[in-house]
Amino acid sequence: MKKLYYEDVHMTEFEATVTECTYDEKKKIYKIVLDQTAFFPEEGGQVADKGTISFVQKLGVTPQCLTLLDAHIKNDIIYHYVEQEIPVGTKVKGCVDWGQRFDFMQQHSGEHIVSGLVNKQYGFDNVGFHLGLQEVTLDFNGVLTLEQLREIEVLANEAIWENIPVNIEFPDSEVLSSLEYRSKLELTENVRIVTIPGYDVCACCAPHVDTTGQIGMIKITNVQSHRGGIRVNILCGRRALQDYTVKQNNAAAISASLSVKQDCIAEGVERLKEENFKQKEVVNRLQANMLKNLAESLPTPEESFHAILFVEPMDDITIRNLINDLVPKYSGYVGVFWGNDTDGYRYIVGSTSRDCRELATFLREKFGAKGGGKAPMIQGNVVAGEEQLRTIIFNS
Ligand SMILES: [Zn+2]
Repeated sequence: MKKLYYEDVHMTEFEATVTECTYDEKKKIYKIVLDQTAFFPEEGGQVADKGTISFVQKLGVTPQCLTLLDAHIKNDIIYHYVEQEIPVGTKVKGCVDWGQRFDFMQQHSGEHIVSGLVNKQYGFDNVGFHLGLQEVTLDFNGVLTLEQLREIEVLANEAIWENIPVNIEFPDSEVLSSLEYRSKLELTENVRIVTIPGYDVCACCAPHVDTTGQIGMIKITNVQSHRGGIRVNILCGRRALQDYTVKQNNAAAISASLSVKQDCIAEGVERLKEENFKQKEVVNRLQANMLKNLAESLPTPEESFHAILFVEPMDDITIRNLINDLVPKYSGYVGVFWGNDTDGYRYIVGSTSRDCRELATFLREKFGAKGGGKAPMIQGNVVAGEEQLRTIIFNS
């Protein structure tokens, strides 16, 4: 079978004849083999081209147009997955989705430049590559800092500005054996070598741009540790532009919201966090004072076994601190409930003499309360009225 994408990556329409059509029981779809195809299959970490395969079923009937669901290569045979049977011998017309093809060419050629530069400058190999519809990741078997990658990024973009031709050839075995290239294969012939002069030489089967200028732009968007090396995310061409737009919209929204210049939004957010932290401290102090005042209105331990407060919503830690203070003084339960009768209450109840889990079980059985804890302290949520809860606790 002829791989037309090797001859011309710009070919978006082609004619072919069906040479094989089988039903894939597992996937519940048909596998079509053609005598020639311009569809690049899933290969070398890159997902397959998208497109359509159309054919005339009967003369005078409108042509059928099937979506290419996927394309795989096995033993050098490309299988096209479609929903419907196309009998062997049928003449078909294939249409390649140029939008995705060109996008993938931009990402893949960009990847070669980055991997070539990393290999040249640091000697690390690209040991994993994934080119999907959303993400492009490159795994290297060595660690690079973000600063080092930023330098690589500048050099990679310089390769684009130089608009260098991307050369593709199948060197004979003699030339091949003396050639230094990445992704070296055991094979001694039929190895497709993609060369970006001055930047990279690599064995690769995928469609590439004609000149580096077509990549448009390379942006490294993320780096993380991965299996002793690093995983780098890149975006090229239109994807990089779209990513820029998303980030710019976010930066503009944060800038307007914080009234700071766009290039200072990180400092602006930090300042906001600090202010928020300080305010939280003030609120916590006020809440603690308020709770202390409310606690003074409680019956004394001589007047009551239990001490129960219903309060406005407030910080868990403040409430827990108050309960820890009061628990040694009362012989029954010390509990704080915050919320309202309609939506329910969050609660924390503690005791030194009673097993609070008994109360938790009771609240769960009677009101479907959620939560748990240990014998000295429980916490949870309960939907019940203040009077009902007071009655239950004072009768227990
Ligand atoms: Zn490649």
